[in-house]
Amino acid sequence: MFATHGGAGVIERDNLSEEQDAAIRAALSHALGTGSAVLAEGGTSIDAVEATIRELEDDPHFNAGRGAVFTYEGNIEHDASIMDGATRAAGAVTGTTTVRHPVSLARRVMENSPHVFLRGLGAEQFATEQGVARVENSWFETDFRRRALEEMRAREAEGQSAYDVDLKYGTVGAVALDTHGNVAAATSTGGLTGKRWGRIGDSPIIGAGTYADNRGCAVSATGAGEYFIRVGVAHEICAQIRMAAQEVSVSDPAAIPSDADIQQIANGVINEMAALGGSGGVIVTTPWGHTVYSFDTVADSSTKELRSP
Ligand code: ASP
Repeated sequence: MFATHGGAGVIERDNLSEEQDAAIRAALSHALGTGSAVLAEGGTSIDAVEATIRELEDDPHFNAGRGAVFTYEGNIEHDASIMDGATRAAGAVTGTTTVRHPVSLARRVMENSPHVFLRGLGAEQFATEQGVARVENSWFETDFRRRALEEMRAREAEGQSAYDVDLKYGTVGAVALDTHGNVAAATSTGGLTGKRWGRIGDSPIIGAGTYADNRGCAVSATGAGEYFIRVGVAHEICAQIRMAAQEVSVSDPAAIPSDADIQQIANGVINEMAALGGSGGVIVTTPWGHTVYSFDTVADSSTKELRSP
């Protein structure tokens, strides 16, 4: 089982040219194929989610790696995280500026350091020690995202809200269940257009934007990060599924939660996040083979999730 997303549904079809729409769909579909192929060959869920995210990080259509949004100061700063449901090992990085594949650096943090979360210059130093691919910060730039920053600044100058939800679509995420029965999740983003003061969203925060636990599920989120952090969305969904699984197996040890149960749990947590004022969504896969998504944003979005059996 494999699912990937290309951000919350905040870009409506009307705002995209047909070419952009087709390119985004093709890229997601190709990346889905990449992750699915890893699984089909007996590869691990961690390898599958990393391979998919790496591909999307190189694609300028998404707010991750190349094509990520600009900070207020006009730089690009990446956030990424990855988690292995078999061991609950996790790695995350925030504020990297020259790492071509932040998701792979997050994996190195998970596997080659005693830590879970590295930031900024320290993360860059670790990247050097690990010998991961580096590029100039300008390599990540796109005209489209530069215009988005200028528009944000213009709105701010007019006294309007600077953080329009439309300015931050395109975070990428993936969840997978492999043939060994292990789930994994990964998420990568540039965050919000015009972010400042060292703002960090949910994407690199284990438990908020990403979580994986073989006893419950794997989750990757996208949307208004502040709200996902406050609800602890990814962990909350996994914990509720874990408890639901325990409950159904009491009378029948072979019983598993139904698709409807899983969907209801995901919707419930997304509704809770939305009730606080946020918006966005999640993709979820369980060790029992359920794959669901729950988004409170535009259902017909071009960037909605793709999944494969
Ligand atoms: N969740 C990301 C953040 O708040 C943005 C997004 O998913 O669009 O940084």
